[in-house]
Amino acid sequence: MSKGKVWLVGAGPGDASLITVKGLHCIREANVIVHDRLVNPELIAQAPVHCQIINVGKNPNHHPVPQDQINQILIEHALAGKNVVRLKGGDPYVFGRGGEEAESLAQQQIPFEIIPGISSSIGGLAYAGIPVTHRDYASSFHVVTGHLCQGNEPQNWHALAQIDGTLIILMGMTRQEEICQLLIEGGKSPDTPAAAVMYASQQRQKIAKGTLSTLKDEIERQQLHAPALIVIGKVVNLSEILAFTSTQIDIRNEEPLL
Ligand code: SAH
Repeated sequence: MSKGKVWLVGAGPGDASLITVKGLHCIREANVIVHDRLVNPELIAQAPVHCQIINVGKNPNHHPVPQDQINQILIEHALAGKNVVRLKGGDPYVFGRGGEEAESLAQQQIPFEIIPGISSSIGGLAYAGIPVTHRDYASSFHVVTGHLCQGNEPQNWHALAQIDGTLIILMGMTRQEEICQLLIEGGKSPDTPAAAVMYASQQRQKIAKGTLSTLKDEIERQQLHAPALIVIGKVVNLSEILAFTSTQIDIRNEEPLL
């Protein structure tokens, strides 16, 4: 039997219509879809009737499917001649362990393709009215994880505090208070604008805004929790004027709903 192929597809930050044309096409042609928890169910509903759907979602309160098992699922179905779509939130190569999955496919000489997606770290913040760069306020942006992998060194928050650009933290909600504190200790002004954006780009999107010293209280007051982005820098202030209401597009027929 000839080998199948695996497409590592970025699903975008949440709003289903933010997937790429190519990504949606792959879903519609898939024999097997292996998806994460953050992927919008509307996208999975686009799979053909006989497509096998496998949820390997990493729910923080439950045991996730171990990474080598996910790799194995992809390999097995591809070896069985299937077209496999590995559907991941945002962009597959931004903190999604997509790199590891592609490596394991390459090692097994399984054909694969990457279909990039809109990362929540950039596109999600745009939906909250926050441009990651701006000529007057930020000439760089830095996307970091707030989560520590086993065996990995902790982030050097003191060094990150010295950087002038926009700082974007993914998977940082459980440690946000500590992170803000470390940035202040590292030399960032406690008055630096800071925000958390939950469910970015979705209708349930919520934003808490404050400063490095007040963000914790704002998050509590508005009851924000994961999944959320934390963003630190002057660009946060622009959300006052750049927030917008998005047009809803129905991906079933690609017509505006309004
Ligand atoms: N590959 C993804 C990131 C995976 S890590 C991407 O490019 O967006 C998962 C983290 O991303 C979450 O813990 C959260 O910090 C962030 N995230 C993903 N989607 C989000 C959304 N719609 N709203 C807010 N944060 C989101």
